[in-house]
Amino acid sequence: MEDEDGPEYGKPDFVLLDQLTMEDFMKNLQLRFEKGRIYTYIGEVLVSVNPYQELPLYGPEAIAKYQGRELYERPPHLYAVANAAYKAMKRRSRDTCIVISGESGAGKTEASKHIMQYIAAVTNPSQRAEVERVKDVLLKSTCVLEAFGNARTNRNHNSSRFGKYMDINFDFKGDPVGGHIHSYLLEKSRVLKQHVGERNFHAFYQLLRGSDDQALQGLHLERNPAVYNFTRQGAGLNMGVHNALDSDEKNHQAVMEAMRIIGFSPEEVESIHRILAAILHLGNIEFVETEENGPQKGGLAVAEEALVGYVAKLTATPRDLVLRTLLARTVASGGRELIEKGHTVAEASYARDACAKAVYQRLFEWVVDRINGIMEPRGRDPRRDGKDTVIGVLDIYGFEVFPVNSFEQFCINYCNEKLQQLFIQLILKQEQEEYEREGITWQSIEYFNNATIVELVERPHRGILAVLDEACSTAGPITDRIFLQTLDTHHRHHPHYSSRQLCPTDKTMEFGRDFRIKHYAGDVTYSVEGFIDKNRDSLFQDFKRLLYNSSDPTLRAMWPDGQQDITEVTKRPLTAGTLFKNSMVALVENLAAKEPFYVRCIKPNEDKVAGRLDEAHCRHQVAYLGLLENVRVRRAGFASRQPYPRFLLRYKMTCEYTWPNHLLGSDREAVSALLEQHGLQGDVAFGHSKLFIRSPRTLVTLEQSRARL
Ligand code: ATP
Ligand code: MG
Repeated sequence: MEDEDGPEYGKPDFVLLDQLTMEDFMKNLQLRFEKGRIYTYIGEVLVSVNPYQELPLYGPEAIAKYQGRELYERPPHLYAVANAAYKAMKRRSRDTCIVISGESGAGKTEASKHIMQYIAAVTNPSQRAEVERVKDVLLKSTCVLEAFGNARTNRNHNSSRFGKYMDINFDFKGDPVGGHIHSYLLEKSRVLKQHVGERNFHAFYQLLRGSDDQALQGLHLERNPAVYNFTRQGAGLNMGVHNALDSDEKNHQAVMEAMRIIGFSPEEVESIHRILAAILHLGNIEFVETEENGPQKGGLAVAEEALVGYVAKLTATPRDLVLRTLLARTVASGGRELIEKGHTVAEASYARDACAKAVYQRLFEWVVDRINGIMEPRGRDPRRDGKDTVIGVLDIYGFEVFPVNSFEQFCINYCNEKLQQLFIQLILKQEQEEYEREGITWQSIEYFNNATIVELVERPHRGILAVLDEACSTAGPITDRIFLQTLDTHHRHHPHYSSRQLCPTDKTMEFGRDFRIKHYAGDVTYSVEGFIDKNRDSLFQDFKRLLYNSSDPTLRAMWPDGQQDITEVTKRPLTAGTLFKNSMVALVENLAAKEPFYVRCIKPNEDKVAGRLDEAHCRHQVAYLGLLENVRVRRAGFASRQPYPRFLLRYKMTCEYTWPNHLLGSDREAVSALLEQHGLQGDVAFGHSKLFIRSPRTLVTLEQSRARL
């Protein structure tokens, strides 16, 4: 590692710690953080602590410092990881991926942006126009996705409320020629409801505050978000470090500009705005029971009819059909006969909300698809151009524990179990491969395998998701409580599952409501309330058909399943849980096929303040990210491995044969002479290109003799 950091900056790699205890780990993390060293390695894994302040670590000069270097040549940095992934991809034609993990506010999204900026900066030296276009789209897509997929939460003012995996395709020259984004589980319940201090997705406020008066008039909107049910909750409208009013307005311009550069047409942008406006109006529609107005006598009516007109106009659908769809649904009775069944107030409100959520989700997915369409590698022929290689960047939600945890947290934590499993497998696999490549023998080591927890969730027939699906497909009333009882029956002996029924004395769980999973990262209690409903995630076919029949081509394109007639809709759509599971399985398969690099992000404190690292808060994250385990795995076989030249660079001053330069023999022979002088030759193995050092003690000895000089 470059010598600009002396011992007072702590160890740049946790593998170099004298002893591996949580105390030592935390001390090193703290020491480095205090000195503005927010990055530290564990081997090739980068640990990053969010500084909550602008540090002079980024930009063209810093990029130049890392470009083309080896990982350890410079102080730990995201750029070094981006560079390593890029080099592996380019030199060895390996698909690589960078997996960024950590809790909300830990700095994942910022990290992914730095990585993208690094890649954009070091590619396309010949300024090919098509490559520049792709780079623009890649960089600008983040801004657009953040508008639609991010929101202010109590943990993070710009929290990503979806998981994101982005592939960047490179041609044989190493220049980006395309890309593809996968999004995972958008938190669409946020459209309806936000906690105190939180907001809906940025896009709504940007529209209200950033549009000019005329545009707002056209959308029948008022500028004030407090007018709309969906944007007035949370009371988080103007609070925070930034002036939200200003930034919403500015960001609106930035997003419009980004959409233009990416290639959204003006008509498409207008459609998007109309859809957002329609959702806001929909949220203000209330239902009242009435004597005459309903579809049937003694039925239901909309309190403010004008809103129905706005929704109809903005969605380009017939007004009377909008009204009918809001008040009743079509059911197939007996044979093929269709009858209209009027809603109660509660049913209509529920359907309205389901519709608002679904429209927003489809909008989000459409935006992602549209960007993908534009980024698709164009006119490339593998026979002529060679196969593209890929770097994938994963920025996905970390482990979540709230006072009350629901279906969303269940999915997110399952995702983290999958990724943790992959992490352990890959780190071990990578180690093993390296030993083989270098001609070194080693024995495999023990580690905690969380496979049983993954199984508990995803196992066919008995796993929690399968039991949930079963409950959802049962005709007739089935309650969350019955679902919980079935879980209890299936998993009463599972070491990672419990509930109040199974542990009657445990007062931290409620009878008939809670179950608990012992996750690798800690225990989480889930409330089953709403599980069935969220998993079913259904929307009446009438809404789908209504929107499919819109004369707005953009909106219509979001609802291809609206084509089906009610009598044709016999097959149950896949549930939210199963769709999520399938997407996780595919994601993990995809990642496993690539050479992985890891960035583990840590949030230093709960208050988003600069320069403060809360010991207890960080300790918990270090524990559940499995960082100590990671160091242990790394040290179990060989604590460290270093290419001979790098080893010499760092330690040659500790030996007379090698200082200032060794004159005879290869680097390997010089390293051997150096080690012999220190009496350390028994603790190492000589690989083809690297030195493998078994015990950290050896490194400590070398470090000490270096520090003494
Ligand atoms: P979520 O899971 O909620 O999306 P996240 O891990 O993606 O969280 P970010 O949005 O990347 O978190 O970071 C939260 C905030 O922390 C940023 O808006 C920024 O203010 C600050 N931050 C993160 N990383 C850095 C950094 N390297 N330098 C300066 N500030 C940072
Ligand atoms: Mg984020």
